[in-house]
Amino acid sequence: MSEEDTREERLALSEAEWKERLTPEQYHVLREKGTEYPGSGTYYHWKEKGKFLCAACGQELFSTKVKYDSGSGWPSFWEPIAPEAVGKNSDASHSMMRTEVVCSRCGSHLGHVFDDGPKPTGLRYCINSLSLTFRAESSE
Ligand code: FE
Repeated sequence: MSEEDTREERLALSEAEWKERLTPEQYHVLREKGTEYPGSGTYYHWKEKGKFLCAACGQELFSTKVKYDSGSGWPSFWEPIAPEAVGKNSDASHSMMRTEVVCSRCGSHLGHVFDDGPKPTGLRYCINSLSLTFRAESSE
């Protein structure tokens, strides 16, 4: 936690508390770093305009303005709603070197970020639908 990060108060719950709050499917992805089956997620082909929030704590994470069809089977975005909304960790699991993306407020697993995304960032935030909830914004 950096000193300048005052975006939102941290949310630290015990795993027992997370289990109570989340569905078993959400818990597996968010708290056990699971991955939903490609193409299976609610938000992969989502077209409504609005914002995606962390399914665990409600922090704003991604806008539909930067959502694009990566063909990967998972919702894809080229940048988070704010740099401080997400954290990144090295992930050497499954014999791959990847960068895990977590919610900066509650530490829950969201997905991974890759460097094969579109301009202007060149990044592909590959995020599980199960890690997100949607909030429509009629003004957008
Ligand atoms: Fe969160």
